[in-house]
Amino acid sequence: MKTAVYPGTFDPITCGHGDIVRRASILFDKVIVAVAENAGKQPVSDVEERVALARKVLADLPGVEVVPFGNLLIEFAKQNGASIILRGLRAVSDFEYEFQLAGMNRRLAPDIETVFLTPAEQYTYISSSLVREVARLGGDVSDFVHPEVKKALQARYN
Ligand code: ADP
Repeated sequence: MKTAVYPGTFDPITCGHGDIVRRASILFDKVIVAVAENAGKQPVSDVEERVALARKVLADLPGVEVVPFGNLLIEFAKQNGASIILRGLRAVSDFEYEFQLAGMNRRLAPDIETVFLTPAEQYTYISSSLVREVARLGGDVSDFVHPEVKKALQARYN
């Protein structure tokens, strides 16, 4: 049984995140989407809301679970029987940070592998922060997020 944990802030979950989870759900028996309670990024939405939205968005995917986490990622992975950390790579700009993170996690837990997936081309330029900015300024985010996320963003910014 191969379990992968996909950690992130998901503030909010986008079609890019969803694309990565869908691809991973084909590769692994179980994918745990781990929503960081308070990443250094100081999320705009609280963790309960980010978890609830991710659950709605990913409800159709088999073997996918969404849970909040606030401890060290490798400890969370071990507690949940995950031997794989999943991350998404959009562009070269993601590489440096992701490479550093993977190196640190390997140093802390040599048995856990980090696996990178790339999204479909139309999602490569989507980030949660840009989606929030577009929504805040009244732009249409339909192509970037699930309708439930769009609704939540409208409720927040209108
Ligand atoms: P974090 O704060 O951990 O970077 P994010 O929610 O921003 O959390 O991203 C979680 C992971 O998903 C990261 O590996 C990030 O590179 C990846 N990711 C974010 N947006 C996309 C996207 N549009 N396509 C593919 N991967 C993405």
